[in-house]
Amino acid sequence: MFSHYSSLHIPDTPYPRIVIIGGGFAGIQLVKTLSRQYASVQIVLLDKHNYHTFQPLLYQVATCALAPDTVAEPLRDILKQYPHFYFRHAKALYIDPTNRKVTTTSGVLTYDYLVIANGAKTNYFNNALIAKYSLPMKNLNDAMHLRQHLLKNLERTTIIHHPGILSSLQHFVVVGGGPTGVEIAGALGELRKNVLPHQYPEIDTTRMQISLIEGADRILNTMSQRASKKTLRYLEQLGIQVILKKFVQSYNGKTVIFDDRSTLSTANFIWAAGVKGNIIKGFSDQVVKDSRLLVNEYSQVKGYDNIFAVGDVACMVGIKYPKGYPMIAPVAMQQGKLLAQNLLRLLRHQQLKKFRYFDKGMMAIVAEHQAVVDLPIKGLGFSGLLAWMAWLFIHVLFVRGKRNRMVILSNWLWSYYTKNKGVKGIYYTKKY
Ligand SMILES: Cc1cc2nc3c(=O)[nH]c(=O)nc-3n(C[C@H](O)[C@H](O)[C@H](O)COP(=O)(O)OP(=O)(O)OC[C@H]3O[C@@H](n4cnc5c(N)ncnc54)[C@H](O)[C@@H]3O)c2cc1C
Repeated sequence: MFSHYSSLHIPDTPYPRIVIIGGGFAGIQLVKTLSRQYASVQIVLLDKHNYHTFQPLLYQVATCALAPDTVAEPLRDILKQYPHFYFRHAKALYIDPTNRKVTTTSGVLTYDYLVIANGAKTNYFNNALIAKYSLPMKNLNDAMHLRQHLLKNLERTTIIHHPGILSSLQHFVVVGGGPTGVEIAGALGELRKNVLPHQYPEIDTTRMQISLIEGADRILNTMSQRASKKTLRYLEQLGIQVILKKFVQSYNGKTVIFDDRSTLSTANFIWAAGVKGNIIKGFSDQVVKDSRLLVNEYSQVKGYDNIFAVGDVACMVGIKYPKGYPMIAPVAMQQGKLLAQNLLRLLRHQQLKKFRYFDKGMMAIVAEHQAVVDLPIKGLGFSGLLAWMAWLFIHVLFVRGKRNRMVILSNWLWSYYTKNKGVKGIYYTKKY
């Protein structure tokens, strides 16, 4: 043990090496907690991006409210002060558990302990057409691509006269009635109401349609009935058409086809209908459950003592969560924190602690003064102005970087008073 190899310029030290794949909510919490203990371990963080993405605000990047860098803090800025810590900008491609090796885009390195915290990716449910033509909302590039697409189509709307093409350009279809879908639909509704009439006086915004599609019988179906009903009312007040109990079967770039063979015509098809674990090659199928890595209460991947998975990529079954804990930031952060403590216990040959999820409740936002909060105590919650303020407060508090917090706050204040959005340039990105 403790003799290492690395082609990524990581020094070989007498300390055990913990390699972490992914600097998301779980990975950062893990590094921070481990480092604060000043333990004699070497920590290597690998990420395919050199920044941490604050995904809960991506929809604001996509709808012109925030610039991309405000939700993407460089990982070296977040984690710079920690001893025995190394960050490498590299994508993990393959894990070899037998030889304790990770192959990355920049080289190979060995580990004593491996933590897989590389999150989730968009789930297109094996539909190649939807994957090709839809606008996903999972990462920063997706959000920028979506914004560029929306702005380009708005510009095209001022030129096109053909009524069929015009109505397709003016129809915004959002699939998925979870928090992300609701937030995008709400933000589009606000753009239509407050921004576009001034910015695009030649567009008849009364002809612009926004549809939110959900397969279940209610939106926000992981929240309370009360929150669902309230959110539905907010969306309807903004003029958003909510279509329930319908499943999208396909989309060919022009037409949405539903399972009942009905259709909708749109040039803006936003896919917020699901995510699945980012599984890195090297594990057998027995270790994977519903596209996530099966782990025990200590986050150990099934069958391995020294490989762990935390956050969205991990499927840890809890008493109230037979399908695994929800793929949300608090679960990822709590798992990351406990794993750091458990890794130190493991090195000290102490008993490991089991994961217990501390549920702090859930929230979602629709528009200005319109949000819903479910408290962890069953049946309790609130909505409206207070919920909206709570949402803003919590989100600005958890964003990484003081400068980002200041910029976000000033952007929000500016939008609140001017009813305008600040980031409307068309910068070219490609979908990947
Ligand atoms: C649009 C959107 C809105 C959301 N809103 C909320 C919300 O309001 N509240 C909430 O609680 N949750 C929300 N979530 C969910 C929340 O963001 C996730 O649960 C959380 O990010 C999971 O943390 P994680 O550490 O597991 O993964 P992530 O935060 O996704 O981090 C994974 C990291 O791994 C890196 N990575 C991926 N693959 C590799 C690889 N092969 N090699 C190296 N690095 C890799 C990525 O670059 C990334 O930095 C939202 C998610 C999305 C997409």
